[in-house]
Amino acid sequence: MRRMHLMYHGIHDDASAPGHFDPVYSVTRTRFAHQLDWIAKQEQPERFHVTFDDGDISNVTTALPLLLEHGLLERGMRATFFITGGFINRPGMLRRVDVRTLADAGMCIGAHGMSHGFLEDMDLDSLRRELRDSKSLLEEITGREVDAMALPGGRGGARELEEALACGYRDLYGSRPGPDDEAQPGWRNRIAITRELGDAKFAALANWSGPAARWARLRHGALAVPKRVLGNARYQRLRAALT
Ligand SMILES: [Zn+2]
Repeated sequence: MRRMHLMYHGIHDDASAPGHFDPVYSVTRTRFAHQLDWIAKQEQPERFHVTFDDGDISNVTTALPLLLEHGLLERGMRATFFITGGFINRPGMLRRVDVRTLADAGMCIGAHGMSHGFLEDMDLDSLRRELRDSKSLLEEITGREVDAMALPGGRGGARELEEALACGYRDLYGSRPGPDDEAQPGWRNRIAITRELGDAKFAALANWSGPAARWARLRHGALAVPKRVLGNARYQRLRAALT
């Protein structure tokens, strides 16, 4: 079974919704509900893995009730919330009690660094500290093992994977779009779900078929070159200018 990992950030209709509205990554409640309807109708809903990055408060106020309403948990689909340790308890972000609520509801909790700094830009000591501290903080809050991590900004490669596995993680999630690649154990690909994605395009991406999938791969490949050449800080500015 080839799983498709879908990457969300927050569910916000507009800037007045609880949490941090993002014009690119905030998905509306209606769209998110449609997307869950679509997943629920598939033969193997557990093939689709809904994930959330950063720890926005809408993860618990809005996403969790919709996930539970759709009864996907009973059909084997657990969502994963990748939470940045240093963001916990900040305004608009999950509090410790919310992280526990998500875990107690049967959802998976994963790490997303302590500072949200890009791991591939860090020296080895800082990288190891980010991996270790975020894991132990979330384990302390939830009382459960945390064995998955999503790379902040999706940035990282062989060194980050090796260090994550050595630290006790089993899965490292990046941002290369597409299904998992069996040739890379421990590495997980993901598809970014953005606000503008309509129902048909969502289905094409989730099924990894047609021009939507080819375009997602192409765009990711095209952006990887300036990322290497410019370094992450300048790349961020370029990307911001392009979207
Ligand atoms: Zn993030």
